[in-house]
Amino acid sequence: MSQVTVVTGGSRGIGAATVRRLAAQGHHLAIGYRQAKSEADALVADITAAGGRAVAVRVDTTSPDDVDALFDTATTALGPITGLVNNAGVTSPAGDLADLHVDDLRRVLDVNLLGAFLCARRASRDLTEGGAIVNVSSAAATLGSPGEYVHYAAAKAGVDALTIGLAKELGPRGIRVNCVAPGTIRTDIHTTSGLPDRPDRMATVIPLRRAGEPDDIAAAITWLLGPDATFTTGAILRVAGGL
Ligand code: NAP
Repeated sequence: MSQVTVVTGGSRGIGAATVRRLAAQGHHLAIGYRQAKSEADALVADITAAGGRAVAVRVDTTSPDDVDALFDTATTALGPITGLVNNAGVTSPAGDLADLHVDDLRRVLDVNLLGAFLCARRASRDLTEGGAIVNVSSAAATLGSPGEYVHYAAAKAGVDALTIGLAKELGPRGIRVNCVAPGTIRTDIHTTSGLPDRPDRMATVIPLRRAGEPDDIAAAITWLLGPDATFTTGAILRVAGGL
């Protein structure tokens, strides 16, 4: 049976690296993007040119209607869904909690937590035996991110809890739910939070003395989704260079 995998936030960064890895392994891919249409379309073109199958779908994962449209389009274009990479996420300008704006609190909680729940909820309805979900949380969930983004860290801790609970809920149906918790990875997300040099700054305190690359995380996601992890569920795999 074909592997049909939905990747939210698949247009850039960790999601795009994951899309490329999964395509190389023969997955058919539904690439969710919010704004970066040209990046998502370019990924589809590359995959199609290499003989694979992919579709790009605009989705704001905080909208239940958008999430349903993403899964409906994926199923119509590619066939029944076998996997979800629940990856879309955002930060806001960094700072102490006392200085954070309520709009930023709401947005970070909505995208990182509610959005992840809406996608996991739809996947839990569509997936059948052998299906798998990989959530993307953050090492921040256990570090707390003081002075930078405690709201983001708390949302990601919620994603860890979602992983543990949903793995127990769906295990009896033969559906696995796991999570990758990345450390500092070299993507554009740091520019969004006003800390573009964060990967270089963190490299000095990360035990492996470097920031991660998107493909470091894509490798872990791909493993958790794939046939070498069929007895792994409810796991939160930290990929953070030792932090
Ligand atoms: P990124 O390069 O900024 O990419 C974020 C992706 O999420 C983009 O594809 C973006 O789509 C999408 N997105 C944002 N808001 C969305 C929404 N409301 N609905 C749907 N899609 C949305 O970030 P990244 O570093 O690859 O992050 C990927 C995941 O890893 C996130 O969950 C992030 O929290 C987590 N993470 C990252 C790091 C790190 O250091 N980079 C560390 C720990 C965890 P558009 O571009 O199309 O708008």
